[in-house]
Amino acid sequence: MNRKSLIAAVLGLALLAAAPLFTSNPYYIHMVGTIMIYAILLFGLDIVVGYTGQVSLGHAGLFGVGSYTAGVFFLKLGAPLWLVIPASIGVTAGFGALLALPALRVTGPYLAMVTLAFGTIIQILINEMTFLTEGPMGIKLTKPSIAGYQLNENGFYWLVFVLMVVSLVVVDRILKSQLGRAFEALRGSPVASDCMGVSVYRYKVYAFVISAGFAGLAGCLYAYSEQYISPNTYNFELTVLFLLAVIMGGRKSRVGALLGAAIIVILPKLLDDLELFRIVASALAVLITVGAIVGLIKKVTSPKAVAIPVLGSIALVVFSFWLQSITDWRLSIFGLMILFVVYYLQDGIVGFVHALFFRKPKAAAGVLEGTGNAGPDAVMVAANGEHSAVGSDLLVAQGVLMQFGGLKAINNVDLRVKRGTIHGLIGPNGSGKSTMMNVLTGIYVPTAGSIEFAGRAVVGRTSADIALSGIARTFQNVQLFGEMTALQNVQVGLHHTFRSNIADVALHTGRYRREEKAAHARGMGLLHFVGLGALATEEARNLPYGKQRLLEIARALALDPQLLLLDEPAAGLTAPDIKELVAIVRKIRDHGITVILIEHHMDVVMGMCDAVSVLDFGQKIAEGKPADVQADEKVITAYLGGTAA
Ligand code: ADP
Ligand code: MG
Repeated sequence: MNRKSLIAAVLGLALLAAAPLFTSNPYYIHMVGTIMIYAILLFGLDIVVGYTGQVSLGHAGLFGVGSYTAGVFFLKLGAPLWLVIPASIGVTAGFGALLALPALRVTGPYLAMVTLAFGTIIQILINEMTFLTEGPMGIKLTKPSIAGYQLNENGFYWLVFVLMVVSLVVVDRILKSQLGRAFEALRGSPVASDCMGVSVYRYKVYAFVISAGFAGLAGCLYAYSEQYISPNTYNFELTVLFLLAVIMGGRKSRVGALLGAAIIVILPKLLDDLELFRIVASALAVLITVGAIVGLIKKVTSPKAVAIPVLGSIALVVFSFWLQSITDWRLSIFGLMILFVVYYLQDGIVGFVHALFFRKPKAAAGVLEGTGNAGPDAVMVAANGEHSAVGSDLLVAQGVLMQFGGLKAINNVDLRVKRGTIHGLIGPNGSGKSTMMNVLTGIYVPTAGSIEFAGRAVVGRTSADIALSGIARTFQNVQLFGEMTALQNVQVGLHHTFRSNIADVALHTGRYRREEKAAHARGMGLLHFVGLGALATEEARNLPYGKQRLLEIARALALDPQLLLLDEPAAGLTAPDIKELVAIVRKIRDHGITVILIEHHMDVVMGMCDAVSVLDFGQKIAEGKPADVQADEKVITAYLGGTAA
């Protein structure tokens, strides 16, 4: 966070803390308090929705679990606040795990349905378990007391404020740590996450459980705030509101969560009052029109793109003045707003404002040149001490068969790769080269055959596990974490260097700070190694294609691999880029890392490889020194065709 936004944040929070001093009307204090409580939940929901990219329709249910844990502890045990809060967080996180462990095996619409069912079940349980929850009667609570001091409306407001700020700081720290990077990575590219040793499933569950913990805290505070809880609060509508708030406010943003919370608390009240609705519709129209004009002047948008939002918002104003009564139209207006957000505000209000006013111009292509191979080689020295045994077999694959339906993409292939060599894997398109890599990295489980890497069997282990044991890779079609910076991409590869847990991260302990510092230094070192040092803070998706390929290599090296698999690294690269790539791959080998190289550029393969295997229709048709392979009859007919004959 830079200085300006820090000052803005502190000012904003100070204003929020001082709010009760401006008004004595408990209605408004209660309203702002509710916004802050919802914000706590939304900070957590944003981890799941914004960062890991999963949809949860179960958060109203989790919110309910938090409320009812507080209610039951209060009613049955008369427990004090300092006990109720951790209990609510813990119990809800437990329910979150219960939901996540099976649910996160599925994605997309299935996940939505499972979480939706969970929410419904929670509501039914609360209704039916009368002995615990008092059923439809609900539970009455009184405001808590701290150290014998009974909190009044203002006191409680400040308690909520403090817990909201603590939540904000903790969430922010989590998201900026290796955990946050893991969450974001699995959204950017699940397959690449797994291949960087970051288990997609494990971190999805982790994100969900953390998120549930915050829902529990919010639910607990909500129970005290309302002083009465009943089952029908925690319904489907609330779940949709939560999702809407995250998306409307702007995902991946704490300000967005606060804004979203404000919208879902205020919006229903707004849609109750026609006069207010007219004022707000007019204000909105003015805002959108001004925004559109600014956008047009700054050339970040086109007349065609802004036409509908501008006309639509003006139409809304006309409509609001034409309306006689609002009650019949509430739901329709609500629906329209959702449509609007989905079409025009996909990055939420925060994202929209950011794009309009703060977007920095893209890095000019010229800046990128001349940054090649400047870096210190020292950073490359890998932690694995086993590189010395050059000449022994590092990888032994025997009789590997990979069948897709009737197609034998790999048909009974043996492959031996010696330590410290660059081993070429060539063959025409569709001959099974990439499939071989996917088998070696656990993405596919071979139909038959065995693979041994550094003396250990590979088949049957997860991609993340295989990656951590020392096989790193790049992908034929680049798999970067697009929304993350170049440095963050590499740092995901460095995930394995962290021992800090969530408590270390939340408290910024010495251990975490040391690890983060080391990961930063090593990440920068690796970027310099591939000549991307100057682009560390650029988002991966904004890098030119050639640089993306180099970034993938840097990220793979972060794993400290013994074996590096490169799948057509030179595809789509310009001639100077290819030269740089060749130099980098040589340097990697010189550091004792074994390389398997799939490549179509024959000069690259022939000039660099110590051994070459040739695949054709899934079968190995030749193997040996590059020159011998190149002269092989079978290879010439199958692969090199007439040109080399
Ligand atoms: P190469 O990398 O050598 O160009 P691939 O390994 O990508 O070739 O593909 C080998 C063959 O396997 C192709 O015929 C391809 O269509 C098929 N194939 C690869 N992956 C799958 C899959 N997941 N399902 C079905 N067929 C596949
Ligand atoms: Mg391929």
